[in-house]
Amino acid sequence: MAEHEREREHVKVAVIGTGFGGLGAAVRLRREGITDFVVLERAGAVGGTWRDNSYPGCACDVPSHLYSFSFAPNPEWPRTFSGQEHIWKYLEHVADTFGLRPHIRFNSEVKQMRWDNDALHWEIDTSAGSITAEVVVSATGPLSDPKVPDIEGLDGFEGKVFHSARWDHDYDLRGKRVAMIGTGASAIQIVPAIQAEVERMTLFQRTPPWVMPRADRPISGAERWLHRQLPFTTSARRGLLWGIRELQVQAFTKRPNELGLVESIAKRNMKRAIKDPALRDKLTPSYRIGCKRILLSNTYYPALAQPNVDVVASGLKEVRGNTLVASDGTETEVDAIIFGTGFHVTDMPIAERVIGADGRTLAETWTGGMNSLRGATAAGFPNWMTIIGPNTGLGNSSMILMIESQLNYMADYLRQVDVLGGRAALDARPTAVQGWNDRVQERMKRTVWNTGGCNSWYLDENGRNTTIWPGTTTEFRAATRRVDLAEYDVLRPAAQANRAGRPAEKVEADA
Ligand SMILES: Cc1cc2nc3c(=O)[nH]c(=O)nc-3n(C[C@H](O)[C@H](O)[C@H](O)COP(=O)(O)OP(=O)(O)OC[C@H]3O[C@@H](n4cnc5c(N)ncnc54)[C@H](O)[C@@H]3O)c2cc1C
Repeated sequence: MAEHEREREHVKVAVIGTGFGGLGAAVRLRREGITDFVVLERAGAVGGTWRDNSYPGCACDVPSHLYSFSFAPNPEWPRTFSGQEHIWKYLEHVADTFGLRPHIRFNSEVKQMRWDNDALHWEIDTSAGSITAEVVVSATGPLSDPKVPDIEGLDGFEGKVFHSARWDHDYDLRGKRVAMIGTGASAIQIVPAIQAEVERMTLFQRTPPWVMPRADRPISGAERWLHRQLPFTTSARRGLLWGIRELQVQAFTKRPNELGLVESIAKRNMKRAIKDPALRDKLTPSYRIGCKRILLSNTYYPALAQPNVDVVASGLKEVRGNTLVASDGTETEVDAIIFGTGFHVTDMPIAERVIGADGRTLAETWTGGMNSLRGATAAGFPNWMTIIGPNTGLGNSSMILMIESQLNYMADYLRQVDVLGGRAALDARPTAVQGWNDRVQERMKRTVWNTGGCNSWYLDENGRNTTIWPGTTTEFRAATRRVDLAEYDVLRPAAQANRAGRPAEKVEADA
């Protein structure tokens, strides 16, 4: 072992990210009695999604009592769908309450991690130094790295340009001609929040979203008092919210035609606010509701009906000076462009930075699309797991439910490695990964995400749905309750298995 390696800090577990996934993992590690871990975070504060998305109008679209940890209920949620600042504060509170801060290394961006087959550990290079870890838990987020389309002439635009997830609060939008590019979940929150202050708003819409009414209201002082005094009422509220969403899943996964009724509610939501038939035509989707994420808003359509708003039913194709040219030829002069164009989801950026046992990156092994075992581990990447990995996303419920299931899996994984004794690592068997993905893709065939007639960010460039879980959260919880050792090869250090120094040896698990 080289001298510099001996000096490198070594930990049992390195977690990456301080969003719901990373903080949740850290809490769970402590609860499992593991304190030899660090949490590496590229930013200077915790919060992930809820630190980075500070755009006007930013809020969750799953009710707060469900969009929070089951082990950290918050009786103080101010609204049924709370705003970004409250969710961010909640995550700060979680970090403090569970004593996570001493573990967190801020401003430590993971640049690369390499699996060392002899030492059976990960070598991790960060912007703040190097470290080795027996296990890596990667919680870098599915919607963490903003995606800006490659638009001809954008570099020559003289006005202001930013992405919704990197809002420039120093830029004063008042009196400006603003282009909003995209009609996803962020865009439909931003448009009504800034429409009244800008001089002119032009919305570039490639595909209209389905927008349902939003049952948002302040949570009264009496309700909050009740939740404080009788904590079971918070759990009961959460349980009800969860149960309703769980019952809806069948319509998404097995009987998309039943969603026609939901479409009629969304159409009524539009008709109430949009009186102009031509505008209504532009805003009416031509695909089955649910195929893309169903959006919730009571203010989006009323904002679009205002005289200072134009909807261009076409994507942005080119920028010429300060003029934006849409694919249908429409030209619009603007002072600022806001991209609400989403994130790198199916091309998870961290995958390019993980180098596995055979020297290839995870991205290289995923050229045919992301795949994993139970949304967590990948063949050839021993002792590496991801939170919110492939096919763990939800179309209609809280991602925190999926994260907590993955934390169960993580905890059992670490227990299994301990039980094996000595130095050991687990490597997902390719056949197990294949089997899991075949089952997921088989179930996917009937879902609204694959059959609904849309092209969404759930699908990768090959048209394969590698993001969504095609079942209930209960099914996913059951599938991730325990690690099945039959799905893994057990690796032992080469030195232990063979003093001649052959690479780590695969050993049949006893289980
Ligand atoms: C605007 C918005 C609204 C949303 N609303 C909902 C909702 O209502 N309901 C719902 O279920 N889901 C919602 N989501 C999805 C949301 O992303 C997840 O619910 C959840 O917050 C993801 O948590 P995470 O910890 O996995 O990722 P994130 O919160 O994205 O955290 C990832 C962290 O990893 C860090 N990181 C990334 N790469 C590196 C690196 N190389 N080195 C070090 N650190 C790194 C990032 O800085 C970040 O702090 C929303 C997403 C967005 C963008």
